[in-house]
Amino acid sequence: MAGERWGLDRRNLLLGSAGLGALGLGGCATMAGPAPTPGVYTPTIAPVRASMNRVFDITVCLRPFRAAGPRLEAETIADTLVIHNYGHGGSGWSLSWGSGTLAVRMAMANSPASVAVIGCGAIGLTTALLAQEAGAKVTIYARDLLPDARSARATGSWTPDSRIALTKTAGPAFADRWEEMARISFKRYRRYLGLPGTPVEWSDRYTLLDRPPGSEPEPEDPLGFASYGERIRDLTPHSEMLPPGSTPFPTPYVRRNSSMQFNVADYAHTLMADFLAGGGRIERREFTRLPSSTPCRKRW
Ligand SMILES: Cc1cc2nc3c(=O)[nH]c(=O)nc-3n(C[C@H](O)[C@H](O)[C@H](O)COP(=O)(O)OP(=O)(O)OC[C@H]3O[C@@H](n4cnc5c(N)ncnc54)[C@H](O)[C@@H]3O)c2cc1C
Repeated sequence: MAGERWGLDRRNLLLGSAGLGALGLGGCATMAGPAPTPGVYTPTIAPVRASMNRVFDITVCLRPFRAAGPRLEAETIADTLVIHNYGHGGSGWSLSWGSGTLAVRMAMANSPASVAVIGCGAIGLTTALLAQEAGAKVTIYARDLLPDARSARATGSWTPDSRIALTKTAGPAFADRWEEMARISFKRYRRYLGLPGTPVEWSDRYTLLDRPPGSEPEPEDPLGFASYGERIRDLTPHSEMLPPGSTPFPTPYVRRNSSMQFNVADYAHTLMADFLAGGGRIERREFTRLPSSTPCRKRW
């Protein structure tokens, strides 16, 4: 948004020391906040001890993007029914349960007794758990397990339409499928709220603005990423503008919204533990080619 300075939460503050300097938070002892504004709840925001010498790791990762949206379809290879379920861009954690549900529906069409899942990231692990719940004996085969799989590098926010498809490539059918995936996922995430270790939680985010929202046109998205957020606007609380002077931030306009956050380390650990406790098996294996000459079932 034009005129927008920072969208931040504690996690972003921790990661962005540049933002810290600009906000003047470093070492500030007065972040306890201004006098309370009647009727407005603005919690005390503790200054975050962020500085470059506290950075202990830097990771780089690409979002697995497909212009038409994730591939979610069935194919028979040799005598094995294979369900493709990959390519969730910047929304893999957010859509995982919904996407996995659709994939497992296809996989269980012939009621197989056992299911092999390839991959142990956000998509593989959730799909494996869903297949287990559907009654199958499940084995995950993967080169990397969490926390080494790439999914561990995600921010971990509820961002179901982040880099999920291009508007001009993904058709209306995908928009409907996306909504189904997002709604299923959102509902499933409720199960992980309030657990020890807070694998999933709601947190407040503040967006600092120099000018009133809507006073300037939104900049065009040159890449044309699809945006479906309006379709599920009923699911999450709407953002609110906070009254001037009611926050410790230095901008004239502050917007607050509540956002669901996946604490990936703890959440992934919880999923792995649930899968193993449910009788799941994990085998490290790297596949280098399609097993086309020999029946897949024997190899997998
Ligand atoms: C910087 C960044 C931030 C992100 N932030 C968010 C966010 O806030 N919210 C959100 O919802 N999403 C976010 N995402 C997107 C999300 O992380 C991905 O969509 C998701 O992790 C993809 O999961 P996956 O299971 O498909 O892939 P991966 O995590 O890459 O898992 C793939 C699995 O397949 C295995 N595998 C691959 N090849 C082989 C092989 N040949 N043989 C055997 N095993 C193999 C791997 O070892 C691994 O286990 C972000 C992504 C990035 C890069």
